[in-house]
Amino acid sequence: MALIVHKYGGTSMGSTERIRLVAKRVAKWARAGHQMVVVPSAMSGETNRLLGLAKELAPAKITDAYQRELDMLASTGEQVSVALLAIALQGEGMESVSYAGWQVPILTNSAHTKARIESIDDQKVRVDLVAGKVVIVTGFQGVDEAGNITTLGRGGSDTSAVAVAAAMKAAECLIYTDVDGIYTTDPRVVPEARRLQTVGFEEMLEMASMGSKVLQIRSVEFAGKYKVPLRVLSSFTPWDIDIAIEAKSGTLITFEEDENMEQAIVSGIAFNRDEAKVSVLGVPDTPGIAYQILGAVADANIEVDVIIQNVSKDGKTDFSFTVHRNDFAKTVDLLKEKVLPKLGATEIIGDAKICKVSIVGIGMRSHVGVACKMFRCLSEEGINIQMISTSEIKTSVVIDEKYMELAVRALHKAFELDQPVA
Ligand code: ASP
Ligand code: MG
Repeated sequence: MALIVHKYGGTSMGSTERIRLVAKRVAKWARAGHQMVVVPSAMSGETNRLLGLAKELAPAKITDAYQRELDMLASTGEQVSVALLAIALQGEGMESVSYAGWQVPILTNSAHTKARIESIDDQKVRVDLVAGKVVIVTGFQGVDEAGNITTLGRGGSDTSAVAVAAAMKAAECLIYTDVDGIYTTDPRVVPEARRLQTVGFEEMLEMASMGSKVLQIRSVEFAGKYKVPLRVLSSFTPWDIDIAIEAKSGTLITFEEDENMEQAIVSGIAFNRDEAKVSVLGVPDTPGIAYQILGAVADANIEVDVIIQNVSKDGKTDFSFTVHRNDFAKTVDLLKEKVLPKLGATEIIGDAKICKVSIVGIGMRSHVGVACKMFRCLSEEGINIQMISTSEIKTSVVIDEKYMELAVRALHKAFELDQPVA
């Protein structure tokens, strides 16, 4: 008997029919002798619907007071789903009780719409589990010290589930979703993409931060920090499949590197269409330039990803970086108004039609020539690389957006990701 946390996403909770299937599945696990805590998302589309209503009535300026109300509003989506799931479990003959974040409580900081969990008091939940109840806890929400309801950012129910699993030292946290695991790349781009049976936590972190939208990145960070065994699996299998088979399905996120030793050097290809490139040309090659450019960008709360500075010629250099595409116009305006005049730089050019493609793998640490193989593959396809950035376990290139699918397919093949791991 173990304490298990299940998390169900919005599609899995999308209708009363689907909620009934979730209840049947959870009941199966509870009847097998496990203590069950379930963290569901709002029914699919509900959070968007609620936030859409707010938008219709929103004040011209986004204030803290407004964001507080957004949380008050958006959190109701999860309150509906926990109650419905508890009712459905009761309908299956199980004892079940639901709690909103503030009732547990799941304590967060006060950063409305993007709050961070600070602590979870698991006492109430433990008492219920001992009494034989299935406990349902809202995803996505918490409460700050002053008693305000907060939310954790879009997709935040993943983080709620992992945090609850960490606080309760659960044996495993199972994230049930509408895909059946983590793939070597997006199967919509490469039909030959394979499901990974295991993926290293650091690899998952890289993939989550670069476009693989299966898990909220914060949940992966949390799992890494507290070593929560995490599995991503499908909620679309028949609810009554053998529990032993179900327990081994999907993709397990692992922490032991040696488990991966015999695996491929590259585990996956990630890509991201959300970035844009900004270049400041002809800046003087003197101390403090990077700080002046990127400091202004950071002060405007704009996140910077890949950064490149060229060698200088005649005391001048070029400086390029990428930002989220939504921040592109703002970044260019900001630089033109505030930085260019001060620096005496000659020009700013930008390109929003770029994408970033990355190869990710823990095995890259101990193998030379992996990046080279990537560059050769891209050159054979005639794809120009505009920027390169590397870390221990990934190499990313910025290329023209129109070659993205070609690059991903070619790399997937070059690294033999369509072949089963020996
Ligand atoms: N319901 C929230 C959202 O749509 C949280 C979640 O589903 O994880 O973002
Ligand atoms: Mg999600």
